[in-house]
Amino acid sequence: MTPMAALRNAPPIMRAVQLRTLTIACNNSTSPVTLPSVDKKKQDSRVLLGMSELDLQQLALEFGQQKYRGKQLHHLVYKRKVKGIQDFSHLPLAFRNELQEAGWSVGRSPIYKEVTAADGTVKLLIKLEDNRLVETVGIPVEDEKGSFRLTACVSSQVGCPLRCSFCATGKGGFSRNLKRHEIVEQVCLYCLCNF
Ligand code: SF4
Repeated sequence: MTPMAALRNAPPIMRAVQLRTLTIACNNSTSPVTLPSVDKKKQDSRVLLGMSELDLQQLALEFGQQKYRGKQLHHLVYKRKVKGIQDFSHLPLAFRNELQEAGWSVGRSPIYKEVTAADGTVKLLIKLEDNRLVETVGIPVEDEKGSFRLTACVSSQVGCPLRCSFCATGKGGFSRNLKRHEIVEQVCLYCLCNF
């Protein structure tokens, strides 16, 4: 079963998603993981995930495309959740190739591990492009009226510089801040991306 399928099969989560109510809390990630060498070029590559519709329209114009191509990009990234530029079948092949040749990517991060609790809480470990791992947690909460909302606890850093003695994350030290698309990715995993 795919991670998203598991999310869909967790009834409280699903109800929360259907209600499209999302609360986001920021925290630091779990302990940093020691990893193989980082491809600096790839790490610095440009990514579409996290860009607004206006930004994407501007990007389209910069590539000599019409403005509406930016709207299509927005739809493909956030609504269709297409993971690769070459799968943007709505766009001309030449535009797709130019984006790729210029170093652009969608910027999705794969799920490395998933744990679901009996109450529907889901913990996901996400693998970043430099192979570091960060954690995000989705917690379904029912209010007194019986409505569900989903609280997403989102990582903003790999590790933590505060080093509290009781905390495993602190013991591992601080590695780096997350990039915009790495934070947006965590939200995308829990919601339908209607933004
Ligand atoms: S080291 Fe302290 S501040 Fe940092 S994540 Fe752990 S408990 Fe929180």
